[in-house]
Amino acid sequence: MMTDEKMQEYKSLLEEQRESLSKRVQALGKDKTRQGGSISADSSEQAQEIVNDEVIDHLEDIESDRLSNIELAIKRIDENEYGVCMSCGEEISESRLKALPHTAICIKCSP
Ligand SMILES: [Zn+2]
Repeated sequence: MMTDEKMQEYKSLLEEQRESLSKRVQALGKDKTRQGGSISADSSEQAQEIVNDEVIDHLEDIESDRLSNIELAIKRIDENEYGVCMSCGEEISESRLKALPHTAICIKCSP
């Protein structure tokens, strides 16, 4: 079983990650909004901007996903369910939690 102390360690780690990730997601959103009024002189430049926006959209998706995983993990710590696989109910190994503190499933259940 995981000790409360360990649990708190993971919690502060996750809270740090949540903090920096939400800043990144916000920054990505800002990057995109400038596109609204921009008129580029030549079309190749415009195409480049569209590509950039697609990349940012994609990044935003990935980071938002990670952010919700982290938030879920913090919630599971608060509910004392952290470290237990959501899928099979077995304990998640400590080495896995160290590598992926936000994970909610054990290595056997991971796709
Ligand atoms: Zn499992």
